[in-house]
Amino acid sequence: MNKKTKLKGSCLCGAIKYKISGTPFAAEYCHCRMCQKSVGSVVVNWMDFNIEQVTWIKDQPKEYESSEYVRRGFCAQCGTSISFRDSRYPNYYTLSIASLDDPSLVKPTYHIYVENQVKWLSIDDDCKRFTQGAVKEVT
Ligand SMILES: [Zn+2]
Ligand SMILES: [Zn+2]
Repeated sequence: MNKKTKLKGSCLCGAIKYKISGTPFAAEYCHCRMCQKSVGSVVVNWMDFNIEQVTWIKDQPKEYESSEYVRRGFCAQCGTSISFRDSRYPNYYTLSIASLDDPSLVKPTYHIYVENQVKWLSIDDDCKRFTQGAVKEVT
C-alpha cells in the first residue's frame, strides 16, 4: 500500500468514523468461533494498529465484553462490528478491514484459528496458517 494513502473508515450508517495514521503492523483472517458469531460471518478480516494511530473523528464504538480480556466494538445505531481490543495488549487497537472506505487497501497476510475454518470454505493462498492464535503454526 502506498505510504501516502490515508486509511479511513466507518460503520454502515456512518455514525462512527475513524482515520488512521500510517499503516497496520499486521492484518489477518480470523476463523475463530467468537468472531464468527459476533460479526455474523464465517471468516473475519482484522487489521492491527498501535493505539495512537487510530483517531475517532465521529463518535466511538460501544464495547461488548465477549470474554475476560476482550472488548468487541460495534455501532449502537446500525450494529456494525468495527473493533477489537484485548486488555492484555493495551497498546494495540484492531479494526475490521471491511469497515475501511476502501477495504482493498489492506491485504491480510495470515490465517488464525483455522481449526474453526468451515469445511465448505476453501481459500487458495500462500498465507501462513495457525491452528489457533498466531503462536502455533499448522504443519
Ligand atoms: Zn453505524
Ligand atoms: Zn477471531
